[in-house]
Amino acid sequence: MGGVNSPVRAFGAVGGAPVFFERARGARVWDADGNVYLDYVGSWGPMILGHAHPAVVKAAVRAVERGSSFGAPTAGETELARLAREAFPTAERVRFTSSGTEACLTALRLARACTGRPLIVKFAGAYHGHADGLLASAGSGALTFGRPTSAGVPPEIARLTLVLPYNNPEALAAAFAAHGKKIAAVIVEPVAGNMGVVGPRSDFLDALERLPRRHGSLLIVDEVMTGFRLSWGGAQRLLALRADLTCFGKIVGGGFPVGGLGGPRRLMDKLAPLGPVYQAGTLSGNPVAMAAGIATLTLLKRDPPYKPLRDAADHLAHGLRAVARRHRRVISINVVESMFTVFFCKGPVTDLRSAQRANVKAYARFFHALLRRGVYFPPSQFEAAFVSAAHTPGVIEQTLAAAEAAFRDL
Ligand code: PMP
Repeated sequence: MGGVNSPVRAFGAVGGAPVFFERARGARVWDADGNVYLDYVGSWGPMILGHAHPAVVKAAVRAVERGSSFGAPTAGETELARLAREAFPTAERVRFTSSGTEACLTALRLARACTGRPLIVKFAGAYHGHADGLLASAGSGALTFGRPTSAGVPPEIARLTLVLPYNNPEALAAAFAAHGKKIAAVIVEPVAGNMGVVGPRSDFLDALERLPRRHGSLLIVDEVMTGFRLSWGGAQRLLALRADLTCFGKIVGGGFPVGGLGGPRRLMDKLAPLGPVYQAGTLSGNPVAMAAGIATLTLLKRDPPYKPLRDAADHLAHGLRAVARRHRRVISINVVESMFTVFFCKGPVTDLRSAQRANVKAYARFFHALLRRGVYFPPSQFEAAFVSAAHTPGVIEQTLAAAEAAFRDL
């Protein structure tokens, strides 16, 4: 099984043996051999407050002492849903799941049921979990019917997904011109994190707002990574983007397994038990996860860390660019608030195709050089790195010192 329960952890993209972690606190993680690392993965996004934040730990412990799961409703679910609605006003109703994958697959099912249409549009390089219809990627060309990215996805299912280049309003317009009456929804990472970090161009955002609505399709904004991270109201507030359906995950569960789907009542009421669209989960709305989520969102709301988070990411990016220049290395760093990627190529990186120009071997060497010096970056060129509220200026300086030595090694 590769020794892992999720593929990127196996270090396939960078080589070498994966590090087994034992504990974490703040910006640091310790491995099973006692080595300590400054962590820029943050469990792939959830740990915005830093690892093992005392308030989150306390809330989770209290909850587990009262019983870890009931399979019946609890007040915590309503409270977390209220917080999510406050942050995302279009999410009048919220359904919690146990993962972002479930949130996205539920969004697709609901969109198809609400529109009576079969096709979904997604963007190349975007990841929305591993539901069959979302594991489709484009061949070359601006507009292609999807091919399955994974074995076991029947081509008949992949063909229901149109895969378009990110940041390309013309391709979106062409897809709607050709298939508009059949498109149930467009699903988008409002700031892409899964081809490395790629921000949206404003004309792309305009097209996302305009085209689906004009053609009676829904806009599904996948905020699994960006929700509560780019701002309290996620990418939608930061970019003034209006979703029909919003997918949640990661931060909303405070480090526990949670996903969620939010939208207006007229759409969400189509979900069972009120409506005909089936969706369920034994551990959905789990009380321990709800408690950790409530503690996390409450802290983010009361004491917003977004300005210091942005400053930390900018400080790091600025420093890394200077280090790379000193060592005559061409890199391009995309930073959006507290998410960033160091691409080993000349910029700009604006979509999957430009991301794929990156020198993945150079990234792998950089990754291992950092790891040897106690800095844990994402073990793949095509992933987002994250700073947390525990990444103080001192942590960033320590990282830059490690990067200076790492670039010397390359
Ligand atoms: N959507 C996005 C944007 C994601 O980044 C991810 C996970 N990285 C998912 C969906 C899937 O979430 P999960 O891994 O919780 O199933």
